[in-house]
Amino acid sequence: MEASVKMQAGAADYLLECPICGGRYEDSPGEFLLSCPEKHPPALLRAIYKVTKFVTHPEHTGVFRFFDWLPIRRKLPGAAGPVAFHSTALGPFLGLENLFIIFNGWWPEKGALMETCTFKELEAQAVCGRIVDGWRSSLVVSSAGNTARAFHDACSRYKVPALLVVPGNSLPLLWSTGASDPEVRLAVLDGGADYADAIELGNGIAATEGFYPEGGARNAARRDGMGTAVLAAVESSGRIPDHYFQAVGSGTGAIAAWEMNLRLQGDDRFARGKMRLHLSQNAPFTPMTDAWEAGSRTLTPAADGRRLSRSIRARVLGNRNPPYSIAGGVFDALTDTRGFMYRVTNTEARKAGRLFEKLEGCDIDPAAQVALASLRQAVDQGRIGRGDMVALNITGGGHRRLRRDRRIAFLRPQATFTLKALRKEGPARGLALLRAALT
Ligand SMILES: [Zn+2]
Repeated sequence: MEASVKMQAGAADYLLECPICGGRYEDSPGEFLLSCPEKHPPALLRAIYKVTKFVTHPEHTGVFRFFDWLPIRRKLPGAAGPVAFHSTALGPFLGLENLFIIFNGWWPEKGALMETCTFKELEAQAVCGRIVDGWRSSLVVSSAGNTARAFHDACSRYKVPALLVVPGNSLPLLWSTGASDPEVRLAVLDGGADYADAIELGNGIAATEGFYPEGGARNAARRDGMGTAVLAAVESSGRIPDHYFQAVGSGTGAIAAWEMNLRLQGDDRFARGKMRLHLSQNAPFTPMTDAWEAGSRTLTPAADGRRLSRSIRARVLGNRNPPYSIAGGVFDALTDTRGFMYRVTNTEARKAGRLFEKLEGCDIDPAAQVALASLRQAVDQGRIGRGDMVALNITGGGHRRLRRDRRIAFLRPQATFTLKALRKEGPARGLALLRAALT
């Protein structure tokens, strides 16, 4: 109770710790501390919390019921969150007695009420909670689509000024069931641009006055927001899973799951629980699977990575620069948990989607289909015991169901640029044009 009062008064109940040098830092109130100031290779700063016991707070909704383990300055009302339940249809079908499904999306019968239908809503809400009320600079978020949709809704609801930068091919993913706040703006990079191009442009804008970077995987609030998916599984099952399955594009969700597991081990009840990460990518775009199977900490970008990333069913997994090698990143998470990586074809993913819908009764995203297909591979390969506790993170779902229940509107960009035009103008002039279009 005391912790909650202190947080609302604006003093943080967390510090940020560097996994390389062990330095501990207080957070800044607005523009986030995203990296260690010491001179050493880059690392992901982790939040460490005053509260070390896992407690839930049902008086708060969604992700904020886990607020002890979110690096936030304020708890926001009306938030949705992850739900987890024991599967009585898919589990038995796969020969698994203890399959727990973590569902992120719209499935009211299960208590899943995320109207953006994506687990990115977990991170968007946590990141908004990390910003003090009334901060005027504009948060810059680069996205392949789902993240922008989640930040659009969270930033509009909680009045956080934001600029969302997306590649043109992700426009079909940008819709909302709610109202847009005028200070939440959308810039589109067209002409064959992909996610990596959007990140580059976003970084350029975020370095200029009046803007600041959200930080992606480097933002501890983003990771711990996503980590609440694991907390939902523990809340529902009473233990740490033996195995955790998720599809990865950046791998931020997987890093988050691992970090939350380490945090849970600080609570005596869960001290010995370590879940093995089973992470999957959508073939033929599998840079992290390739590197992990080669035993390499270094990613070797495919010469045709841009083309390959466009050929996958789960487009949101097409990240060409994931935080794989960085200290505290995907490679470290896989190493610590003796993890596995998988490659799933478009056909396998599609079949898995149909199977989930038939057995469990809800449509799921292509990325979640990839995760389920990887679970089928793991079962076929004998990696999972019949009684093992398995958590399957359905990172998005319920789109079709939502369309029956709610009216959705597609977002309209405030500025559209082509990659070619920005390059022709040069970076500085390109940025100036973009700023002019937005003001
Ligand atoms: Zn450091």
